[in-house]
Amino acid sequence: MNRKLVILGGGESGVGTALLAQMKGYDVFLSDSGTLRPHHRDELTAAGIDFEEGGHTAGRVLAADEVVKSPGIPEKAPMVRALRDKGVRIVSEIEFAGRFTRARKICITGANGKTTTTLLTHHLLRTAGIRAETAGNVGTSLARQIARGNEPDWYVIELSSFQLDGMYDFRADIGILCNITPDHLDRYEYKYENYIRSKFRILQNQTPADAFICDIDDPTTAEWLPQMTVGARLFEVSQQGRGQGAYAEGGLMHIGSGEAELVVPESGMKLKGRHNVYNAMQAALAAQLAGASNDDIARGLASFAGVEHRLEHVRDLDGVEYINDSKATNVNSAWFALESMTRPVVWIAGGTDKGNDYSELYDLVRDKVKALVCLGVDNGKLLEAFADKTQVSETRSMDECVARCRQIASAGDVVLLSPCCASFDLFRSYEHRGELFKQAVSNL
Ligand code: ADP
Repeated sequence: MNRKLVILGGGESGVGTALLAQMKGYDVFLSDSGTLRPHHRDELTAAGIDFEEGGHTAGRVLAADEVVKSPGIPEKAPMVRALRDKGVRIVSEIEFAGRFTRARKICITGANGKTTTTLLTHHLLRTAGIRAETAGNVGTSLARQIARGNEPDWYVIELSSFQLDGMYDFRADIGILCNITPDHLDRYEYKYENYIRSKFRILQNQTPADAFICDIDDPTTAEWLPQMTVGARLFEVSQQGRGQGAYAEGGLMHIGSGEAELVVPESGMKLKGRHNVYNAMQAALAAQLAGASNDDIARGLASFAGVEHRLEHVRDLDGVEYINDSKATNVNSAWFALESMTRPVVWIAGGTDKGNDYSELYDLVRDKVKALVCLGVDNGKLLEAFADKTQVSETRSMDECVARCRQIASAGDVVLLSPCCASFDLFRSYEHRGELFKQAVSNL
C-alpha cells in the first residue's frame, strides 16, 4: 500500500508538497482549517489530489504515516497536538522535498536579511553562468521547484525558523545565518533561547565538506556560536575586522582569502546601508564557494538592483527623498534603516506591535529623526517611547500620513517608511502597505 501523507495547510508550501508527493506515489490528503486561495484549489483539483478546507477531519489526519505541516501552523494548534500525542512524525516542507533532489543547496536563515541575501546569491550564481533556482519563503516552494523537474545545480533556499523546526535529516551544503534578533517570540513560548536554537538548526548534519557562513558582529550569534557543534568549515563575516571569511574595512569588502581573495568597493553596489554590506559579503562568499569566479561576483554585486520594499528609493520631490522600507517589521531592521540615513529623517512607523522594545532606537531617533509620523490603529507605545525625543504626530491612513510627511519635510530631508511593526492592523501585508505608500507618494 502507498504511504499516506497528510499535509496540514494549503498555502504555497502545502500545495507544492501535495504535487510533489503525488508525483512520487504517495497517497496524499491535504487539510486546511481555513480557506484555500482559488488558484490553489484549482491546482489540487486539476491534479486529482484529495483535500478539505474549513476544518480538519481528525480521523483522516490521524491516519497519516507522516505529516507535512505548514510553517504557519503553531505547535499549540489542537490538530498538531493530537498528532504529537499519537506519535505521528511531523516534518516541514523543506525536509520532505529535500529527499527528492540531488541539487546542492545554499540555505539562508536569520532574523533579517534572508530575502535580500537569497536573491543576491541567486543573482551572483546566475551572473556566473551557474544553473541556480531560488526556493522557500522567497516565492516558489522547494517542493514545487522539484516537482517541476529540470533540476538546477544549486537551489538557493530562504528558510524561516518555522521551516527549520520541522527539519531533521536535511543538510545544507552551504548554510548562511544572517543574524539573530528577537522576532516571532509568540511562537517560541516567549523564550528568546528557543528561537535562537531554532535558527542554529541550520548547522545540523553538516560535515567538513560543507560550509557555514555567519555574521560574527551579531552579538547573539557571537555569544551562542561557541556552544554549538559546527561540523562544517566555518566562515565568519565582519565589519569590525574579525572575519576570517570576509571583512569590510575602509569602504572595501574583502571576500575569501589568499589568492582567491576578492576586493570590491561597497560604493560600487546599488544596495545601500551597513546591513547590506553583511548581506553582500555573505552572498559573495557563498557564490565563491559554489564556484563563481571573482570577476563574475564583482559584476553581479554591481548589477543587483535591490529588492522591493527594502530601503527602496521611490521618488525625489522638492528636494525630499521618499524611501519605502515596508518590510522592516521589527526593531532591528528599522535600526539599520535609520542608521544608514545621512540626511534628516521624517520617519513613518507603526502597525501591529510584536512585543517591541524601542529603547535600542532612542539614540538614533534623537540624532536623526526630525519627526515621527505614526501610522497605526494603536500608536500608544510609540508615543510613549518617542514623544520626548522628537516631534510626534498620529495618522490613520496612508494618504493622510504621506500628506503629513510632505508638510513636515523640507528640501534635504528623507521621508522613510520603516515601520518596525507588522502591517495587519491597516493593511493586508507589508507588500500592500509598501504599494500604498508608493502610490500615495507618486500622487503628491
Ligand atoms: P527577511 O527576509 O529576513 O525578512 P529582508 O531581506 O526581506 O529580510 O529584509 C527585511 C528588512 O530588514 C528590510 O527592512 C531590510 O532593509 C532589513 N535588513 C536587510 N538585511 C538586514 C540585515 N542583515 N540586518 C538587519 N536588517 C536587515
